[in-house]
Amino acid sequence: MLNIALFGPPGAGKGTQSEFLIQKYNLFYISTGDMLRKESSAKTVLGLEAQSIISSGGLVSDEIIVQIIEKTITENPDSNGFLFDGFPRTYIQAYILEGLMLKLNTSLTCLISLNVSEEESIARLLNRGKTSGRSDDNETVIRNRLREYNEKTLPVLQFYKEKGICHDVDGTADIEQVKNEITNIISTELQKKLLNIVLFGYPGSGRGSQGKALAERFGLEYVATGEMLEREIKQRTPLGLKIITMYENGNLVPDEIVVQLIEKKLATSKNVKGYIFKGFPRTLVQSYILDGLLRKHGSSISKIIEIEVPALELINRLDERSKTDRCMPYDDSTSKIVKRLKEHEVKTVPVIAKYNQLHGVTKIDGVGTFQEVFERLSFEIENGFKYMR
Ligand code: AMP
Repeated sequence: MLNIALFGPPGAGKGTQSEFLIQKYNLFYISTGDMLRKESSAKTVLGLEAQSIISSGGLVSDEIIVQIIEKTITENPDSNGFLFDGFPRTYIQAYILEGLMLKLNTSLTCLISLNVSEEESIARLLNRGKTSGRSDDNETVIRNRLREYNEKTLPVLQFYKEKGICHDVDGTADIEQVKNEITNIISTELQKKLLNIVLFGYPGSGRGSQGKALAERFGLEYVATGEMLEREIKQRTPLGLKIITMYENGNLVPDEIVVQLIEKKLATSKNVKGYIFKGFPRTLVQSYILDGLLRKHGSSISKIIEIEVPALELINRLDERSKTDRCMPYDDSTSKIVKRLKEHEVKTVPVIAKYNQLHGVTKIDGVGTFQEVFERLSFEIENGFKYMR
């Protein structure tokens, strides 16, 4: 997700730049000012409470802001990201935003502060007041709004300076110049961001072959835990020998071992644009592990894709594969195939459901030639990159 907060005194040009940014990056726009004005013209309880404060140029309570903003954010978990205009406006709201972003397993990418002098701000707002019809665009209220801004809103900058994601932009430059400067800042921030994809699908849906090909095409690191375990066994590493003993005793490979392997991979892969995870997370516990592992690296899941193939076609494919030299040791009998399909249904389908609720899962039709499915998947990932770049 690309999450941006536009910051600056009233009249700094946040609204104008917002229009451009939401279009360029396909972002969900959240303007607390607009939301409050809508509530007050609809004469809701909340709107009526806010109206007199807005008219006097004060700030409405943090409680009201949480109420109007939380619903919007949690109802749009699958958007490409959010653009915040007029929020956070108090130090407390900066913490609120952290909490809301955490809930979606994401974070604020950057805060862009549009700097204009107090005199410029007043002149612009008085000019806007001639046509805006806003009750708060008159000189007395404007001065009050600026006082509130200096006292309560400016301290928010410190919060983001400490986080290292605050960028200053000269808001008095012409509109095109401001646009360019903001675009450059966002591009630089996005270069630092990883594109992490989780690829789901039943055994036989083509996750493995598609995952590898996608990783190559997009310069991503392919992380397939099943294959990583195999490699350890084949190379007879100390870990591999431990795994063989577990298999022989009929035990499952514990999460600790899988975590170690992924941690090693994340720590040793350099200059990657992101990761594509296949076969992990397989259980709800592992989904929490993945969130934790990525967070440890200052990253998070960017996109979740599920390849869908009807059950009969899956069985057919796995059966065909078992007759070739691509037959996996776990696919050499019907009972083993059925067991794997069932295992996916019982353990992994709930993980997909959880992700669907939290972040949204993109479903891809897995029926067709390899190339056809590959193109469908590539299209989705390209979109992910486009809105990130
Ligand atoms: P704006 O359209 O952003 O200039 O906001 C207009 C008015 O709405 C402000 O002067 C405040 O009274 C109120 N308001 C908007 N956003 C917030 C916020 N995040 N916190 C408190 N009050 C807000």
